[in-house]
Amino acid sequence: MTRAVPLETEARGTGPWAVSPPAGARGADGAAPRRERALLDSIINTFPDPILVTNTEGRLLLANARAESLFAAGEGDSEGRRRAVALNNMLLSAALSQWALGGGPSSARLELPLVDPTDGSDLLFELLGAALDDRREGTRVVSILRNITDLRRATEQVEENYRRLRIAEANVRAERDRLDLVIDSVADPILVTDPAGNLMLMNAPADRLFTATAGEGGEESERAVRANDASFSTFVATVFLGGDENRVRDEFTLSDPRSGRAIPVEAVCGKIVSEHGDVTAVVTILHDRTEAVEKSLLYDQVKRASAELQEKVREATAELVRQNELLRRQHIELEQASLAKSQFLANMSHEFRTPLNAILGYTGMLLQGVSGPLGKRPERNLQRVESNARHLLAVMNDVLDISRIEAGRMPVHPSTFDLGELVGEVMAEVEPLIARTSLEVSSVVPGRMPRLRSDRPKVKQIVLNLLTNALKFTPQGSVRVAAMYAPDRDVLAVEVTDTGIGIDDDDAKRIFDDFQQVDDSATRAVGGVGLGLSISRRLARMLGGEIMLRSRKGKGSSFALRLPRRAARRAGAVPAAKAP
Ligand code: ADP
Repeated sequence: MTRAVPLETEARGTGPWAVSPPAGARGADGAAPRRERALLDSIINTFPDPILVTNTEGRLLLANARAESLFAAGEGDSEGRRRAVALNNMLLSAALSQWALGGGPSSARLELPLVDPTDGSDLLFELLGAALDDRREGTRVVSILRNITDLRRATEQVEENYRRLRIAEANVRAERDRLDLVIDSVADPILVTDPAGNLMLMNAPADRLFTATAGEGGEESERAVRANDASFSTFVATVFLGGDENRVRDEFTLSDPRSGRAIPVEAVCGKIVSEHGDVTAVVTILHDRTEAVEKSLLYDQVKRASAELQEKVREATAELVRQNELLRRQHIELEQASLAKSQFLANMSHEFRTPLNAILGYTGMLLQGVSGPLGKRPERNLQRVESNARHLLAVMNDVLDISRIEAGRMPVHPSTFDLGELVGEVMAEVEPLIARTSLEVSSVVPGRMPRLRSDRPKVKQIVLNLLTNALKFTPQGSVRVAAMYAPDRDVLAVEVTDTGIGIDDDDAKRIFDDFQQVDDSATRAVGGVGLGLSISRRLARMLGGEIMLRSRKGKGSSFALRLPRRAARRAGAVPAAKAP
């Protein structure tokens, strides 16, 4: 273990550097060696690094000026400086011991931390030691201390900068990864170009358009990539050359390198401008317009179709107007014809009825024997004449009624009367008919029934028609006529129910039309031309009422005439029933 030796003991009296000259170099007067020594002293003292010589115990023998400033202190020096010097000596002594233990010159380099006695700052030296063997003086150690404080600071600074650089690099990498993630997650191709037109960055969708994949698609694919590059470069060039606008948009067509499909795109780009106003990059987003183009084509087609449709509708409307006009004219012609027909029928019926009544009158008189008794045969023939004339008269009356109703020439004459009484009257009128049948015919009229305000003759004509039909189409069984009143609806009704041949559903729909009979041949046996029900329904409607039918084939029928207690006076014609 070597011990630090205070400098004042050895080196102080000889000046900053005191070297004992070698024995052989001493001259007689000693002047030459003194000059050499003075030169050596001044050389070593001007050396900026501390140089020291110690013995093997670590005792300091010699020191140059710089070493002295670190390791020597005088009486007049401050307490702080003396303490710094003592600390430096301790540190030097420890370093030299370490140097000696480590094998001396072979482990020449040692770091020696010291304190600057002037300002107390930390200093770092590198200790370079060398052993000096002298036969007379023994072994000494020469140490040169090289100030590496700044070097260490610089090294630390470099290390710190390097560390910061690594962190900054890591941040940039993370930032870049995040940016890649963001732009890759965008479905539209995104490209970043530098001012020289080189691609700096692109996302996966852009990569598919601007990078040819080896082996995939072959030459076609490469050609498509080249064409895409050319189109894109032209666009970017116009952006860089273009004016001051920061956002530029354009449309052009690219092609898919895999499928060769043409892709119409809309390119929108933004310039990235440095703080000095220079454009440093251009970011471009390509938006696939295929769908928009298809939609616009579809829209055009729809527009064309709509225009065609409108034209057709216009034509159809014009045609409709034309047809309507035609129909209107036809309607007028028909109305005129119908009026003429009704007029003709009315005139004809009238013309027929006069001679018919004369025939009936004279026939009646002959049958009553006004011209003397008739033989059996002439009497039977006259009865046939009378029967046919009556039938003809009935038909003429029906035709006349229809004509008058259609021509609106059958006015309603309302009066207030007792419906039960009317039923009694009708029953009495058909008595001869009933007498010719074996039917059980009855009528039911409730005791208290409100009086009916309606057109009495017309109501009677309807009830008469329903009852004669029931008698005609009921071979056996019964016929029942019932008058009734429904106070809830304020409606009076006459219902004629029979146990006759009945009517099926299909026939029930048409028997109210003009000249419609279920079975012409059967009906012929009982008379009638199929106008009774048609006239009855029209009359019922004129009076604000209706005729309802419930019937089943072979199970009898039930016709009901329903009338409001007070018939509204109705003007005009009742629509014609369907012609046969
Ligand atoms: P017509 O009695 O002169 O033939 P209608 O118009 O009065 O004419 O009757 C039309 C047809 O309706 C009749 O021909 C007959 O076939 C059917 N019909 C009417 N009333 C009855 C009834 N009570 N039972 C069965 N059939 C009937």
